[in-house]
Amino acid sequence: QFWHVTDLHLDPTYHITDDHTKVCSSSKGANASNPGPFGDVLCDAPYQLILSAFDFIKNSGEEASFMIWTGDSPPHVPVPELSTDSVIKVIANMTATIRSFFPHLQVFPTLGNHDYWPQDQLPIATSQVYDAVANLWKAWLEDDALSTLRKGGFYSQKVPSNPNLRIISLNTNLYYGPNVVTLNKTDPANQFQWLENTLNNSQHNKEKVYIIAHVPVGYLPYSSGITAIRQYYNEKLVELFRRYSAVIAGQFYGHTHRDSIMVLSDGEGRPVSSLFVSPAITPVRNVLEKETNNPGIRLFQYKPRDYTLLDMSQYYLNLTEANLKGESDWKLEYALTQTYGVEDLRPRSLYRLVKQFAVLDSKQFIKYYNYFFVSYDSSVVCDKKCKALQICAIMNLDHTSYTDCLKRYL
Ligand SMILES: [Zn+2]
Ligand SMILES: [Zn+2]
Repeated sequence: QFWHVTDLHLDPTYHITDDHTKVCSSSKGANASNPGPFGDVLCDAPYQLILSAFDFIKNSGEEASFMIWTGDSPPHVPVPELSTDSVIKVIANMTATIRSFFPHLQVFPTLGNHDYWPQDQLPIATSQVYDAVANLWKAWLEDDALSTLRKGGFYSQKVPSNPNLRIISLNTNLYYGPNVVTLNKTDPANQFQWLENTLNNSQHNKEKVYIIAHVPVGYLPYSSGITAIRQYYNEKLVELFRRYSAVIAGQFYGHTHRDSIMVLSDGEGRPVSSLFVSPAITPVRNVLEKETNNPGIRLFQYKPRDYTLLDMSQYYLNLTEANLKGESDWKLEYALTQTYGVEDLRPRSLYRLVKQFAVLDSKQFIKYYNYFFVSYDSSVVCDKKCKALQICAIMNLDHTSYTDCLKRYL
């Protein structure tokens, strides 16, 4: 089994004070709502919240072969409040924190859109940040991986304890809408070419691959017709993931801060790949938003023989409760197979589940929508349009099938 942690978004300025506008710079002058030792929903993560998450993992009694960490360490603050140095410092701090908790654990990191200054502008060639993380992550990554990481922020590496399993860590921030560096570039940093070659080699060598990246492929489940990465890049990635679906045993993302799944189908509508977007450790929300997520981390189980995904356990911290008690009680929120009554996490199994979601007043979907926010607000309801957007985003990752789906449901 392996852990997945993402979107730590440490806010080093977080502190309890009577003036609620001054609790954290990530609230951007807004009043923190109910600040406590483990954080506030208008603030990014205090260090104590991050420590509590790793402490829970360490004392969980679960033996993991590795951990994936899909980026976004710095806080959500205006660009002038950070710098290349401060961004590197936060990543270095988080790396050292993880190393101190798990000195012998293999960790596979990826960069997020916030792991750069100015945010989102990850470049297509060597940069100070790529160089810095290559140095910081030397304990985890081999020379080949470090070399592509320095050049374009991506890498692939075999899992030491699992000889036929390869992690491909993509820099999907190059495809992210706000990144102006890559506007009008067909293959930024030649990552598509590299990905195709890497998948092709894995196929020849009879390896299986887990794809990890920060910004997910596919459509955002809470807005209409918007892909997380630019549409042109999305179509290219979807095409590659379809072509190599026999090699890819799972895909793992972060960035949205919400708990969601996607099932990629091939041209004939057959499910071929399972994708998992993990919720964030930071509970932060925008002042204008009503909902947010409780802090979450997850553990995946896989079959050691062929790396088929068997189950996922989602753990969370009820932030309100933790602050009230002054104590962090991380708990199991749900185990996927048990909560939904599915066999495993293979594309076929998830596809059948999503078919159940689509039924009117589906109890399964009501659960899913509560977990989407990591049980932040059990009274939250998803109306007809909301549900159509969710279902179409789960089942359709390309433009044509997504548009058709919305027409059918709306
Ligand atoms: Zn984030
Ligand atoms: Zn992000």
